[in-house]
Amino acid sequence: MSVWKAGREVVELVDKVREKYHPHLAEANIAVVLNDKTPVSGNKVCVGKMKRTSREDQLLHHHDFKLIVYAGPFAGMSDKEKAALIDHELTHANVERIPRYEIGESGKRTKCRDEYGRVIYTDEVKIDDESGKPKFVLKQHDVETFLDVIERHGLENCPEVTDIRKMRKVFAAKKSEEQAS
Ligand SMILES: [Zn+2]
Repeated sequence: MSVWKAGREVVELVDKVREKYHPHLAEANIAVVLNDKTPVSGNKVCVGKMKRTSREDQLLHHHDFKLIVYAGPFAGMSDKEKAALIDHELTHANVERIPRYEIGESGKRTKCRDEYGRVIYTDEVKIDDESGKPKFVLKQHDVETFLDVIERHGLENCPEVTDIRKMRKVFAAKKSEEQAS
């Protein structure tokens, strides 16, 4: 296995996608590396991976995240596929947000939750005391489903997707409520 620092072409693509869709990562230092190994897991080829760096990497190299691109499959992808892959991996790199709080009947401050008990977050980013930068975290996938189900019923009708859209609507409503008050 060999690993090398990504060349200009890949770094420029990462910068372009980050600027367009991930402005909250403006302060994140993301190391981009290529790897010639192609990991296969569950009979699927892994084309990229986003990792949160170790404390040591953060202190010594000031890297907040490490983005690994698997060179073999990446080379065979179209420009649009490459952009989608980089967007996917950058979406894993996230910032921690501050939950929305409410004052309960007892006068105690509690986190706002939706009807299922899930915490509702504000847009406000948590700042890391030590670095002064946003608190960086890894985000897991929103949706896990089957290609066959998407093809038979359409992504629009997959409950995993409609549920998240509903959550986002709740969040947006709370936000506009907050701005109005
Ligand atoms: Zn992923």
